[in-house]
Amino acid sequence: MAKVKRLTCMKCEKVYDRGLEIICPECGLDGILDVEYDYDEMRSSLKSRPLASRPERNIFRYVDMLPLSQPPPGMLEVGWTPLYSFPRLNAALGHEHVHIKDDTVNPSASLKDRASAVAIGMALEAGRPGIACASTGNAASSLAVLSASAGLSSYIFVPETIPKPKLYQIGACATRVFRVKGTYEDAFGVATASIGKWGWYNRNCAINPYLVEGKKTCSLEIYEQLGYKVPDWVVVSMGDGCIISGQWKAFKELELLGETDRAPKLLGVQARGCKPIVDACVECRDVTPVEANTIADSIRVGEPRNWRKALRALRESGGCAISVTDEEIVSAMLLLSREAGVFAEPAGATGLAGLRSALGQGMIGKDETVAVLITGSGLKDPSSLDGALDIADIPADVEAVARHMRSQGKGAGG
Ligand SMILES: *Cc1c(COP(=O)(O)O)cnc(C)c1O
Ligand SMILES: [Zn+2]
Repeated sequence: MAKVKRLTCMKCEKVYDRGLEIICPECGLDGILDVEYDYDEMRSSLKSRPLASRPERNIFRYVDMLPLSQPPPGMLEVGWTPLYSFPRLNAALGHEHVHIKDDTVNPSASLKDRASAVAIGMALEAGRPGIACASTGNAASSLAVLSASAGLSSYIFVPETIPKPKLYQIGACATRVFRVKGTYEDAFGVATASIGKWGWYNRNCAINPYLVEGKKTCSLEIYEQLGYKVPDWVVVSMGDGCIISGQWKAFKELELLGETDRAPKLLGVQARGCKPIVDACVECRDVTPVEANTIADSIRVGEPRNWRKALRALRESGGCAISVTDEEIVSAMLLLSREAGVFAEPAGATGLAGLRSALGQGMIGKDETVAVLITGSGLKDPSSLDGALDIADIPADVEAVARHMRSQGKGAGG
């Protein structure tokens, strides 16, 4: 971690030297740290190796903007995901300048891979015997998948309520899976105690500040993929608030480094049934825990861990936080699937649902450029579409097909 200069507590603002601390010892779980680099050094590495000249097609093209001294060897390709502009989707949205950042194509099928890849690099450089997290979803499958590729042992703690498909993906790739009797909080508790006892590296987003560093690579890519231009808006779904914090950090650092002279406005989106960050943002107050109720399980976070950074990002960017209903989320999933063939999980399409709502409210100007992060694949959580799909159950008989086509008002070839 040659380039990390200091770490600042987001709560008490105490400054720590670079080191392996991952939370403020005074503030505990409430004291997530913010990572600062030696920006003079970063500026000179950008000068000798300009972004546009870099050959790597994964997040380690930004290795000198990350807390790592080198890319971890052997790992699957994370990042450099496509940024699309779909004419038919944009026509349906009624806005010409929407770009879709498709992070469903990462190795474990979510944006979480960007954070896991950096955490695994940190663990390897620190010579840790393994890496661990407690999670019910994408963070755990991402850690299991990428650790397997990098040859680092992974220890995953899951609550017993974990959905089967995720349990199998994790079980297939991880060194050890511990299914903990109890809730997510119980799993988190056992994980924390075990991490201390066995010296594993801690990949829990509740405390590890370097995960935001991995997530920022998504917007570094957007900047490059737009031809070294900053969009007017970046739209992100929010759970713990790490992804949105990472996007803001990317643009702030590009400004600090003299690459850009402006930053986008952020549109942060949560589900109507779980919107602690939106409420705090709108009411200009701290986040307080809420009961969480939404189909979007990856953002079903009633007690967000990174809310201070998320609120700061929203405020500094001059952007906005809004919520959308579960119906709007499902409708955005289907729109994205049918107009673009990108199949997102509910939390993955929540940003798009928020964009639709913001466009409807006239919050975004006709000429403004928008980048929407699609954060996870629909294959992670296909049951969210139960009842929402129009599937024709028919006997094995072409007449039945013909009857169905007629009832839909479609002739042959239609
Ligand atoms: C984790 C996750 C989010 C939310 O990210 P936070 O950093 O928790 O705000 C959104 N979408 C998907 C698919 C995720 O896995
Ligand atoms: Zn502190």
